[in-house]
Amino acid sequence: PLEREPPVIRRLEEEVVNRIAAGEVIQRPLSAVKELVENSIDAGSTSITVVVKDGGLKLIQVSDDGHGIRRILNASLACSVDERLRAFYMYEDLPILCERHTTSKLSKYEDLQSIKSMGFRGEALASMTYVGHVTVTTITKDQLHGYRATYKDGVMGCEPKACAAVKGTQVMIEDLFYNMAARKKTLQNSADDYPKIVDIICQFAIHHTSISFSCRKHGAARADVQSASKSSRLDAIRSVYGVSVAQNLLKIEVSDDPSSSSFEMDGFISNSNYIAKKIAMVLFINDRLVECGALKRAIEIVYSATLPKASKPFIYMSIKLPPEHVDVNVHPTKREVTLLNQEIIIEKIQSAIESKLRNSNESRTFREQK
Ligand code: ADP
Ligand code: MG
Repeated sequence: PLEREPPVIRRLEEEVVNRIAAGEVIQRPLSAVKELVENSIDAGSTSITVVVKDGGLKLIQVSDDGHGIRRILNASLACSVDERLRAFYMYEDLPILCERHTTSKLSKYEDLQSIKSMGFRGEALASMTYVGHVTVTTITKDQLHGYRATYKDGVMGCEPKACAAVKGTQVMIEDLFYNMAARKKTLQNSADDYPKIVDIICQFAIHHTSISFSCRKHGAARADVQSASKSSRLDAIRSVYGVSVAQNLLKIEVSDDPSSSSFEMDGFISNSNYIAKKIAMVLFINDRLVECGALKRAIEIVYSATLPKASKPFIYMSIKLPPEHVDVNVHPTKREVTLLNQEIIIEKIQSAIESKLRNSNESRTFREQK
């Protein structure tokens, strides 16, 4: 049986490698929207607009008023020999924008420990060019006009064209997964990503209250999400999730003594009057929108044990930890993170929620008895 020749091992072509990797980073239209919005947040924007067509398969367009992207690297900003050389040879930022592993956010591995920006790998834009058609329009401050460039498979199409532009950057992805037949079919056969996209924009909107977010379908007159900039957290929740959610919330805060596991949490949780069929959980850890299944389950347990009518809660929670206690690089979509002392943190949050719910329930019964 061992007579068969072993198969030849070949090196994959770079294009194949890149497309496979891109398919992991951009798993669905929702992942593209999240990456683009996070780029806009990283660019210091105060206004971010999302437009979507066909659940994102036909078009995703994210526009912001952030710092923009330079066409030409400014020699006086160069801080390394390498950058000075780039500036000298008139290498530019726009041409390498969508190459894999080009980023303005990380320069050495150690930076990952203290990274504050959402991005760090320089993979998002590149990935999008391997699975869709990307057009970037951008203008930096004090410029008279902007530039527009198109990208395919990591490479810029032709010289950036001068064009009219308002402040910031607009990234447009067309025909997502045009070259991944199986992926496109599965996505077309299932419910489209638009509700998920609306949902994630709502989540960003209630955390980043200094940024105004809007999200609408292409061609629609009305936005499905529209948040004001510089509103209070509760106002933001009211405008995005509605009065019925906002009026049934309790403010919750936990701060740990700095000597031990040192974490802080603040947020809003629904009270016993709130009724819903499904848990809504919006979790930010060090300002990153993430999921934590263990924490979610732990909270559901507290609610069903404490509240008589076992309704599912609404939870908004922002947890701050020392950056070195969070590993952000464990998941291709960065959707999951791992925490140091996760069990302890979860227990503390559980008991804080439990006492909050008991207190509010007791004071309510007390008021009702009076
Ligand atoms: P990363 O965010 O990990 O750095 P990306 O591929 O998402 O990688 O983006 C590459 C670079 O392009 C960023 O580091 C940033 O300098 C620039 N960039 C992307 N989007 C924007 C934007 N909306 N505004 C300004 N710069 C941007
Ligand atoms: Mg990014």
